[in-house]
Amino acid sequence: MQDVTVDGFSAARLAPRHDPEQPSPATVSARPPADLLGRLRARGDADPVTHVERVPARTGIPAPWPQWAPEELRAAFARRGVTAPWRHQAEAASLAYDGQHVVVATGTASGKSLAYQLPALATLLAEPRATVLYLAPTKALAADQLRAVAELDLDGVRPATYDGDTPRAEREWIRQHSRFVLTNPDMLHHGILPGHAQWSGFLRRLAYVVVDECHTYRGVFGSHVAHVLRRLRRQCARYGRTPVFVLASATSGDPATAAGRLTGLPVAAVTEDTSPRGGVTFALWEPPLLPSADTSSDAADLAPVRRSALRETADLLADTVVEGVRTLAFVRSRRGAEVVAANARRALDEAVPGLGERVAAYRGGYLREERRELERALLHGDLLGLASTNALELGVDLVGLDAVLICGYPGTRASLWQQAGRAGRSGQEALAVLVARDDPLDTYLVHHPEAVFGRPVEATVLDPANPYVLAPQLACAAMEAPLTPADLELFGDGAKEAVEELVAAGALRQRPTGWYWRHRERPEVDLRGEGGAPVCVVEASTGRLLGTVDGGSSHFLLHPGAVYLHQGVSYVVDDLDLADGCALVHAEEPDWSTHARDVTNVSVVSVRSYVDAGPVGMFLGEVDVTSQVVSYQRRRIATGEVIDTRPLDLPVRELRTVAVWFTLSPESLAAAGVENADVPGGLHAAEHAAIGLLPLIATCDRWDIGGLSTAMHPDTEAPTVFVYDGHPGGAGFAERAYGTASTWLRATRDAIAECGCETGCPSCVQSPKCGNGNNPLSKADAIRVLDVVLANLPG
Ligand SMILES: [Zn+2]
Ligand SMILES: [Zn+2]
Repeated sequence: MQDVTVDGFSAARLAPRHDPEQPSPATVSARPPADLLGRLRARGDADPVTHVERVPARTGIPAPWPQWAPEELRAAFARRGVTAPWRHQAEAASLAYDGQHVVVATGTASGKSLAYQLPALATLLAEPRATVLYLAPTKALAADQLRAVAELDLDGVRPATYDGDTPRAEREWIRQHSRFVLTNPDMLHHGILPGHAQWSGFLRRLAYVVVDECHTYRGVFGSHVAHVLRRLRRQCARYGRTPVFVLASATSGDPATAAGRLTGLPVAAVTEDTSPRGGVTFALWEPPLLPSADTSSDAADLAPVRRSALRETADLLADTVVEGVRTLAFVRSRRGAEVVAANARRALDEAVPGLGERVAAYRGGYLREERRELERALLHGDLLGLASTNALELGVDLVGLDAVLICGYPGTRASLWQQAGRAGRSGQEALAVLVARDDPLDTYLVHHPEAVFGRPVEATVLDPANPYVLAPQLACAAMEAPLTPADLELFGDGAKEAVEELVAAGALRQRPTGWYWRHRERPEVDLRGEGGAPVCVVEASTGRLLGTVDGGSSHFLLHPGAVYLHQGVSYVVDDLDLADGCALVHAEEPDWSTHARDVTNVSVVSVRSYVDAGPVGMFLGEVDVTSQVVSYQRRRIATGEVIDTRPLDLPVRELRTVAVWFTLSPESLAAAGVENADVPGGLHAAEHAAIGLLPLIATCDRWDIGGLSTAMHPDTEAPTVFVYDGHPGGAGFAERAYGTASTWLRATRDAIAECGCETGCPSCVQSPKCGNGNNPLSKADAIRVLDVVLANLPG
């Protein structure tokens, strides 16, 4: 652990910056000391900064309140400190007020909520019976919005959240009396729409549907939500209502198209951000190479190793806290966030006992009260440093951050900008630092700033026509009310075929008046797919619930012997009871950390269809993807040295899904010039690029797909690349890939060949989600592999 510089440290500078009499955010924000970056980068011998981008300050462009905005509402906003809207807010608000569906897609903290609050609340004030439905992807965000609307204190609005936590006793009151209901798509799907009769009064008067953070509705989940919104539109229409949709999105590519797919409606986009912001100095940071511990000839052969991004981020966090700078560090995993917080605290306490208390960790799994307490402490300056997962991306309202540290590329430019956008929101100069992890993708990015700063952000991708989403959603719709031919148009392409299949499968019955759901019980459809129920973490001696971990991560984080960090306090897991969904832990602070390792396999269950193309085979079929956490390493915290590897006895987890795969004969690869040793790298690189290009063909998202490549697969007995749907039962992506295989792989081959890089980069063969750390990869051999496939595959 590098020592923290404490020169120039003064207790006064670290004192909480808020005046208890004046808890307004503006009075508590600490200015970043001038040339903070200069001092951070001067710590070591080598300069870790590879690029500095200046994002200039922007002057806000205010607009007058729209004519239609009532005085009462203007006064309420003025009490909250909003004296006039920014132009983009007024523009979006007026479009919505005029009845135009609209999406406002602007940066973090640009005031998107005013854009929907203004028309929605103005309408509630003007029409005493009108109602508004607000949808957020998380309960936490809905709770924030509830607070914001309630604070406006408008007569007769009676805002209320309606979600799984709402006590039964309150639900009836909310349905009858609230005119601004805040909920989430899951509750709309499971609760409100199936019980639409109870909601008929509310739906009959529904003026606006607000879809907040709509960029989070992507992939299969987004496709499900698209149909939940169509079901909502259908029920509204049955009650004689056509509400206006107002959507809010993070900055994304082509938001009008994405919002149109999500709602099935023509949507206007407002994308020019006219809110003011301070300039941001954005630095790309490559951790230094570690000095070789041993100068013997053995060590000289070892490849140089960089300091881990977690360590580097922890040190930077400690350094900025010493400077009195309010800093948020984004770390990709929950565990990483805990490690960064713990290391920063330790470094600070070594420098100045007690200073570590000004740093904490934050992640989605914390209990609600703990989250609120952390937010409050950071807002008021009691806390100066926070290490977080991207849970904070979802609209948690934090203002006055002076520096953002991003530990590892978050996977998309859209996420990167969203995280960086947390800095400099109060109109001050701020610092953002992307700390590269030691993998080819991050290394590429910090040395190719044009790949970070010179390209537009990605579009949000979803596909409502996905038959694996459409059919279950139509079943839900039919259960809510019989489907009519007009409904089929509402649900879009493929709806007719899906209904016919449901009839054939016995789920629907066709009558002269429409298609009827045949069963008593509701169809079971989970919008969010797999993942499993969350596992509770309980302190054995006290029975205290420390937090929860999602089912998908539980084997990795809570296996017996795992060191589990909670708020920087270290616990060791005694027992993981998967049947009860509960892990028992005790407090203990060993000087090692634990790292679970898993093994993933794909086995072929059945082949649905195949093309025999000589040395090449192209297949579509069902596969079992098994993954098992098999062991964990214990590593010394101080040095990262591996102490030992311990076996684990956890059950295998299986995903039965659909895959497309191709095989090549070893002879054809050899003839194409692929050396034996390069087969794995060529296949792996081709697999990554093929996954990256699949969204072009299947309008899915690369996060919905998995892959596996191997130089010899026991089922195919040949070099093989698998690409599988990451959702149980498949989601239609692999099927589309198979149906358009030559187009898909041609595009893949061209993308690799046309990429200007020499040995592979994130634009071609590197993947941000690779489980093998992007290793091995061979760009040249990937082209050879794909050339062999394309030369043999018909059409
Ligand atoms: Zn490239
Ligand atoms: Zn990979």
